[in-house]
Amino acid sequence: MLPFKLVYSDGYYLPIGAHVFPAEKYRRIRDRLLETGVAEASDVLEPQPATDQDILLVHKPEYVHKLKTGTLSPREEMELEVPFSPELVKAFWLAAGGSILAARQALTDGVAISIGGGFHHAFPDHGEGFCMIHDVAVAIRRLQRDDKIRTAMTVDCDVHQGNGTAAIFAGTRTESEPLPSAGPSTLASSPWSTPPKGKIRGAHAGDVFTISLHQANNYPQWKPPSSIDVDLPDGSGDDDYLAWLDNALSSGLRQFEPDLLCYIAGADPFTEDQLGGLSLTIEGLKRRDELVFRVARARDIPVMVTFAGGYARNVEDTVTIHCKTAIAAKEVFAAKK
Ligand SMILES: [Zn+2]
Repeated sequence: MLPFKLVYSDGYYLPIGAHVFPAEKYRRIRDRLLETGVAEASDVLEPQPATDQDILLVHKPEYVHKLKTGTLSPREEMELEVPFSPELVKAFWLAAGGSILAARQALTDGVAISIGGGFHHAFPDHGEGFCMIHDVAVAIRRLQRDDKIRTAMTVDCDVHQGNGTAAIFAGTRTESEPLPSAGPSTLASSPWSTPPKGKIRGAHAGDVFTISLHQANNYPQWKPPSSIDVDLPDGSGDDDYLAWLDNALSSGLRQFEPDLLCYIAGADPFTEDQLGGLSLTIEGLKRRDELVFRVARARDIPVMVTFAGGYARNVEDTVTIHCKTAIAAKEVFAAKK
Protein backbone atom coordinates (compact mmCIF):
# COMPACT_ATOMS: atom_id res chain seq x y z
CA MET A 1 0.00 0.00 0.00
CA LEU A 2 1.19 3.50 -0.79
CA PRO A 3 1.56 6.10 1.98
CA PHE A 4 -0.52 8.45 -0.26
CA LYS A 5 -3.25 8.36 -2.90
CA LEU A 6 -3.18 8.22 -6.67
CA VAL A 7 -6.01 10.02 -8.43
CA TYR A 8 -7.12 8.46 -11.70
CA SER A 9 -10.11 7.93 -13.96
CA ASP A 10 -10.46 6.19 -17.32
CA GLY A 11 -12.12 9.48 -18.29
CA TYR A 12 -8.66 11.13 -18.26
CA TYR A 13 -8.20 9.68 -21.75
CA LEU A 14 -8.15 12.52 -24.28
CA PRO A 15 -10.19 11.61 -27.36
CA ILE A 16 -7.81 13.17 -29.89
CA GLY A 17 -7.14 10.24 -32.24
CA ALA A 18 -3.65 9.53 -33.56
CA HIS A 19 -1.58 12.34 -32.05
CA VAL A 20 1.92 12.96 -30.75
CA PHE A 21 0.27 13.29 -27.31
CA PRO A 22 -0.08 9.65 -26.13
CA ALA A 23 -3.49 9.95 -24.48
CA GLU A 24 -3.44 6.27 -23.52
CA LYS A 25 -0.46 6.90 -21.21
CA TYR A 26 -2.68 7.57 -18.21
CA ARG A 27 -4.30 4.13 -18.21
CA ARG A 28 -0.97 2.46 -18.92
CA ILE A 29 0.68 4.22 -15.97
CA ARG A 30 -2.13 3.14 -13.64
CA ASP A 31 -1.96 -0.44 -14.97
CA ARG A 32 1.83 -0.63 -14.63
CA LEU A 33 1.78 0.71 -11.06
CA LEU A 34 -0.78 -1.94 -10.07
CA GLU A 35 0.83 -4.81 -12.05
CA THR A 36 4.27 -4.20 -10.60
CA GLY A 37 2.93 -3.97 -7.04
CA VAL A 38 4.01 -0.37 -6.54
CA ALA A 39 0.37 0.47 -5.76
CA GLU A 40 -2.80 -1.39 -4.82
CA ALA A 41 -6.30 -0.81 -6.16
CA SER A 42 -7.25 0.78 -2.83
CA ASP A 43 -4.58 3.46 -3.35
CA VAL A 44 -6.48 4.88 -6.32
CA LEU A 45 -9.20 7.52 -5.91
CA GLU A 46 -11.68 8.32 -8.69
CA PRO A 47 -12.22 12.08 -9.18
CA GLN A 48 -15.40 13.95 -10.04
CA PRO A 49 -15.32 16.57 -12.79
CA ALA A 50 -14.73 20.14 -11.67
CA THR A 51 -17.85 22.30 -11.64
CA ASP A 52 -18.24 25.20 -14.04
CA GLN A 53 -17.91 27.44 -10.99
CA ASP A 54 -14.49 25.91 -10.28
CA ILE A 55 -13.36 26.43 -13.88
CA LEU A 56 -14.54 30.05 -13.72
CA LEU A 57 -12.19 30.71 -10.80
CA VAL A 58 -9.44 30.79 -13.46
CA HIS A 59 -11.01 31.00 -16.90
CA LYS A 60 -12.99 33.83 -18.53
CA PRO A 61 -16.76 33.32 -18.89
CA GLU A 62 -16.59 33.96 -22.67
CA TYR A 63 -13.99 31.23 -23.13
CA VAL A 64 -15.90 28.73 -20.95
CA HIS A 65 -19.07 29.52 -22.90
CA LYS A 66 -17.31 28.85 -26.21
CA LEU A 67 -16.06 25.51 -24.91
CA LYS A 68 -19.48 24.47 -23.59
CA THR A 69 -21.24 25.44 -26.81
CA GLY A 70 -18.54 24.28 -29.24
CA THR A 71 -18.11 27.75 -30.70
CA LEU A 72 -14.34 28.23 -30.71
CA SER A 73 -13.15 29.99 -33.85
CA PRO A 74 -11.04 27.94 -36.30
CA ARG A 75 -8.04 29.95 -35.17
CA GLU A 76 -8.71 29.18 -31.49
CA GLU A 77 -9.11 25.50 -32.30
CA MET A 78 -5.85 25.54 -34.24
CA GLU A 79 -4.02 27.10 -31.31
CA LEU A 80 -5.27 24.32 -29.06
CA GLU A 81 -3.46 21.83 -31.32
CA VAL A 82 -5.90 19.05 -30.44
CA PRO A 83 -9.20 18.46 -32.25
CA PHE A 84 -12.13 20.01 -30.37
CA SER A 85 -15.04 17.82 -29.27
CA PRO A 86 -17.56 17.91 -26.43
CA GLU A 87 -15.89 14.71 -25.13
CA LEU A 88 -12.58 16.55 -24.95
CA VAL A 89 -14.22 19.30 -22.88
CA LYS A 90 -15.44 16.61 -20.47
CA ALA A 91 -11.95 15.13 -20.17
CA PHE A 92 -10.51 18.54 -19.25
CA TRP A 93 -13.21 19.24 -16.66
CA LEU A 94 -12.37 15.84 -15.18
CA ALA A 95 -8.63 16.57 -15.20
CA ALA A 96 -9.35 19.74 -13.23
CA GLY A 97 -11.51 17.77 -10.78
CA GLY A 98 -8.65 15.28 -10.43
CA SER A 99 -6.21 18.04 -9.59
CA ILE A 100 -8.59 19.50 -7.00
CA LEU A 101 -8.88 16.07 -5.39
CA ALA A 102 -5.11 15.52 -5.49
CA ALA A 103 -4.48 18.93 -3.92
CA ARG A 104 -6.93 18.19 -1.09
CA GLN A 105 -5.46 14.77 -0.59
CA ALA A 106 -1.93 16.22 -0.47
CA LEU A 107 -2.97 18.37 2.50
CA THR A 108 -4.05 15.19 4.32
CA ASP A 109 -1.24 12.79 3.35
CA GLY A 110 1.69 15.10 2.55
CA VAL A 111 1.68 14.12 -1.11
CA ALA A 112 -0.80 12.99 -3.77
CA ILE A 113 -0.43 12.24 -7.45
CA SER A 114 -2.98 12.78 -10.18
CA ILE A 115 -2.13 10.39 -13.03
CA GLY A 116 -3.04 13.15 -15.47
CA GLY A 117 -3.27 16.94 -15.52
CA GLY A 118 -0.48 19.49 -15.68
CA PHE A 119 -2.06 21.43 -18.55
CA HIS A 120 0.18 24.42 -18.00
CA HIS A 121 -0.26 26.09 -21.41
CA ALA A 122 -3.93 27.00 -20.82
CA PHE A 123 -4.62 30.74 -20.32
CA PRO A 124 -7.71 32.38 -18.74
CA ASP A 125 -9.14 33.25 -22.16
CA HIS A 126 -7.74 30.59 -24.48
CA GLY A 127 -6.13 27.19 -24.71
CA GLU A 128 -2.96 26.24 -26.55
CA GLY A 129 -0.34 23.53 -26.81
CA PHE A 130 -2.74 20.62 -26.09
CA CYS A 131 -4.06 22.42 -22.97
CA MET A 132 -7.69 23.57 -22.78
CA ILE A 133 -8.12 24.11 -19.02
CA HIS A 134 -5.41 24.91 -16.46
CA ASP A 135 -6.25 22.14 -14.00
CA VAL A 136 -3.48 23.09 -11.55
CA ALA A 137 -4.54 26.73 -11.37
CA VAL A 138 -8.16 25.65 -10.90
CA ALA A 139 -7.11 23.41 -8.00
CA ILE A 140 -5.11 26.21 -6.34
CA ARG A 141 -7.94 28.74 -6.67
CA ARG A 142 -10.52 26.23 -5.40
CA LEU A 143 -8.47 25.38 -2.30
CA GLN A 144 -7.90 29.07 -1.66
CA ARG A 145 -11.63 29.70 -1.98
CA ASP A 146 -12.29 26.90 0.52
CA ASP A 147 -9.73 28.47 2.92
CA LYS A 148 -7.66 25.28 2.82
CA ILE A 149 -4.56 27.14 1.64
CA ARG A 150 -3.48 30.76 1.38
CA THR A 151 -0.41 30.41 -0.82
CA ALA A 152 0.98 27.93 -3.32
CA MET A 153 4.14 27.35 -5.33
CA THR A 154 4.21 25.72 -8.74
CA VAL A 155 7.38 23.83 -9.66
CA ASP A 156 7.16 23.13 -13.37
CA CYS A 157 9.71 20.65 -14.68
CA ASP A 158 8.09 20.04 -18.06
CA VAL A 159 10.55 20.79 -20.90
CA HIS A 160 8.21 23.57 -22.12
CA GLN A 161 7.83 26.79 -20.15
CA GLY A 162 4.66 27.12 -18.03
CA ASN A 163 3.34 30.13 -19.92
CA GLY A 164 -0.28 29.71 -18.81
CA THR A 165 0.77 29.36 -15.18
CA ALA A 166 2.93 32.48 -15.39
CA ALA A 167 0.14 34.49 -17.00
CA ILE A 168 -2.57 33.35 -14.57
CA PHE A 169 -0.54 34.06 -11.45
CA ALA A 170 1.23 37.18 -12.69
CA GLY A 171 -0.92 39.03 -10.14
CA THR A 172 0.72 41.99 -8.53
CA ARG A 173 4.23 40.99 -9.44
CA THR A 174 6.87 43.67 -9.56
CA GLU A 175 10.46 43.45 -10.69
CA SER A 176 12.67 42.25 -7.87
CA GLU A 177 16.36 42.16 -7.21
CA PRO A 178 18.20 39.84 -9.54
CA LEU A 179 18.48 36.40 -8.01
CA PRO A 180 21.84 35.35 -6.67
CA SER A 181 23.50 33.08 -9.19
CA ALA A 182 24.15 30.57 -6.44
CA GLY A 183 22.63 30.45 -3.00
CA PRO A 184 22.84 28.06 -0.11
CA SER A 185 21.68 24.66 -1.27
CA THR A 186 18.32 23.27 -0.17
CA LEU A 187 20.10 20.04 0.68
CA ALA A 188 23.16 19.90 2.86
CA SER A 189 24.56 17.08 0.76
CA SER A 190 24.22 18.87 -2.55
CA PRO A 191 27.27 18.07 -4.66
CA TRP A 192 27.14 21.30 -6.64
CA SER A 193 28.96 24.38 -5.48
CA THR A 194 28.49 26.54 -8.56
CA PRO A 195 25.64 26.36 -11.03
CA PRO A 196 26.46 25.40 -14.61
CA LYS A 197 25.74 27.48 -17.69
CA GLY A 198 22.15 28.60 -18.13
CA LYS A 199 20.04 31.59 -17.29
CA ILE A 200 17.86 32.29 -14.31
CA ARG A 201 15.33 35.10 -14.33
CA GLY A 202 13.26 36.14 -11.38
CA ALA A 203 10.40 38.40 -10.39
CA HIS A 204 8.43 38.82 -7.20
CA ALA A 205 5.13 36.97 -6.86
CA GLY A 206 1.67 37.48 -5.38
CA ASP A 207 -0.05 34.62 -3.53
CA VAL A 208 1.24 31.98 -5.94
CA PHE A 209 4.96 31.67 -6.64
CA THR A 210 5.76 30.11 -10.00
CA ILE A 211 8.97 28.29 -10.89
CA SER A 212 9.61 26.93 -14.37
CA LEU A 213 12.66 25.00 -15.59
CA HIS A 214 12.54 24.57 -19.33
CA GLN A 215 14.45 24.49 -22.57
CA ALA A 216 14.98 28.11 -23.64
CA ASN A 217 14.91 27.30 -27.33
CA ASN A 218 11.49 25.61 -27.50
CA TYR A 219 7.74 26.29 -27.45
CA PRO A 220 6.26 28.60 -26.22
CA GLN A 221 8.00 31.30 -28.18
CA TRP A 222 6.59 34.03 -25.91
CA LYS A 223 7.42 33.14 -22.33
CA PRO A 224 5.62 35.43 -19.86
CA PRO A 225 7.76 35.79 -16.73
CA SER A 226 7.34 33.24 -13.96
CA SER A 227 8.53 34.16 -10.46
CA ILE A 228 11.64 32.15 -11.37
CA ASP A 229 12.38 31.01 -14.90
CA VAL A 230 15.37 28.81 -15.62
CA ASP A 231 16.10 28.96 -19.34
CA LEU A 232 18.17 25.89 -20.07
CA PRO A 233 20.40 25.55 -23.11
CA ASP A 234 19.75 22.78 -25.64
CA GLY A 235 21.11 19.41 -24.64
CA SER A 236 21.36 20.09 -20.86
CA GLY A 237 21.95 16.81 -19.06
CA ASP A 238 21.17 15.33 -15.65
CA ASP A 239 23.81 17.04 -13.53
CA ASP A 240 23.30 20.54 -14.91
CA TYR A 241 19.52 20.16 -14.68
CA LEU A 242 19.61 18.95 -11.08
CA ALA A 243 21.95 21.77 -10.08
CA TRP A 244 19.57 24.34 -11.57
CA LEU A 245 16.54 22.73 -9.96
CA ASP A 246 18.25 22.71 -6.59
CA ASN A 247 19.21 26.35 -7.06
CA ALA A 248 15.72 27.41 -8.16
CA LEU A 249 14.04 25.57 -5.27
CA SER A 250 16.35 27.07 -2.69
CA SER A 251 15.94 30.57 -4.16
CA GLY A 252 12.16 30.19 -4.29
CA LEU A 253 11.84 28.84 -0.77
CA ARG A 254 14.03 31.60 0.61
CA GLN A 255 11.60 34.14 -0.82
CA PHE A 256 8.29 32.43 -0.28
CA GLU A 257 6.56 29.99 2.10
CA PRO A 258 3.89 28.02 0.25
CA ASP A 259 1.04 26.12 1.90
CA LEU A 260 1.02 23.74 -1.09
CA LEU A 261 3.61 22.82 -3.71
CA CYS A 262 2.22 21.88 -7.12
CA TYR A 263 4.81 19.77 -8.92
CA ILE A 264 4.32 19.55 -12.68
CA ALA A 265 6.39 16.47 -13.46
CA GLY A 266 6.65 16.50 -17.24
CA ALA A 267 8.38 13.48 -18.77
CA ASP A 268 9.55 15.47 -21.79
CA PRO A 269 13.00 16.66 -20.58
CA PHE A 270 13.95 13.04 -21.49
CA THR A 271 16.70 12.76 -24.07
CA GLU A 272 14.54 10.64 -26.40
CA ASP A 273 11.61 13.07 -26.39
CA GLN A 274 10.22 14.09 -29.76
CA LEU A 275 9.17 17.58 -28.62
CA GLY A 276 12.06 18.30 -26.27
CA GLY A 277 15.72 19.14 -26.72
CA LEU A 278 17.17 18.39 -23.29
CA SER A 279 19.21 15.27 -22.53
CA LEU A 280 17.99 13.88 -19.23
CA THR A 281 18.13 10.14 -18.61
CA ILE A 282 15.33 8.12 -17.02
CA GLU A 283 17.47 7.83 -13.88
CA GLY A 284 18.16 11.59 -13.91
CA LEU A 285 14.43 12.29 -14.11
CA LYS A 286 13.87 10.10 -11.07
CA ARG A 287 16.57 12.01 -9.19
CA ARG A 288 14.74 15.19 -10.18
CA ASP A 289 11.53 13.84 -8.63
CA GLU A 290 13.36 12.76 -5.49
CA LEU A 291 14.89 16.20 -5.11
CA VAL A 292 11.50 17.94 -5.25
CA PHE A 293 9.97 15.44 -2.82
CA ARG A 294 12.88 15.54 -0.38
CA VAL A 295 12.92 19.34 -0.28
CA ALA A 296 9.15 19.53 0.24
CA ARG A 297 9.08 16.83 2.88
CA ALA A 298 11.99 18.34 4.81
CA ARG A 299 9.97 21.57 5.06
CA ASP A 300 6.56 19.92 5.63
CA ILE A 301 5.13 21.41 2.44
CA PRO A 302 2.36 19.21 0.98
CA VAL A 303 2.97 18.25 -2.66
CA MET A 304 0.39 17.59 -5.34
CA VAL A 305 1.78 16.07 -8.53
CA THR A 306 0.49 16.21 -12.09
CA PHE A 307 2.14 14.59 -15.09
CA ALA A 308 1.97 17.10 -18.01
CA GLY A 309 3.89 16.23 -21.22
CA GLY A 310 5.85 13.21 -22.40
CA TYR A 311 6.47 12.37 -26.04
CA ALA A 312 9.25 9.78 -26.02
CA ARG A 313 9.73 7.94 -29.31
CA ASN A 314 8.82 4.80 -27.36
CA VAL A 315 5.69 5.47 -25.29
CA GLU A 316 6.86 2.79 -22.83
CA ASP A 317 9.66 5.18 -21.80
CA THR A 318 7.12 7.90 -21.07
CA VAL A 319 5.11 5.44 -18.96
CA THR A 320 8.30 4.37 -17.15
CA ILE A 321 9.30 7.97 -16.35
CA HIS A 322 5.86 8.78 -14.92
CA CYS A 323 5.76 5.52 -12.93
CA LYS A 324 9.14 6.35 -11.43
CA THR A 325 7.71 9.64 -10.17
CA ALA A 326 5.25 7.60 -8.11
CA ILE A 327 8.06 5.28 -6.99
CA ALA A 328 10.19 8.27 -5.96
CA ALA A 329 7.28 9.65 -3.92
CA LYS A 330 6.82 6.27 -2.29
CA GLU A 331 10.51 6.02 -1.36
CA VAL A 332 10.77 9.56 -0.05
CA PHE A 333 7.47 9.65 1.85
CA ALA A 334 7.66 6.10 3.25
CA ALA A 335 11.13 6.72 4.70
CA LYS A 336 11.44 7.84 8.30
CA LYS A 337 12.14 11.52 8.62
ZN1 LIG B 1 5.82 19.76 -22.41
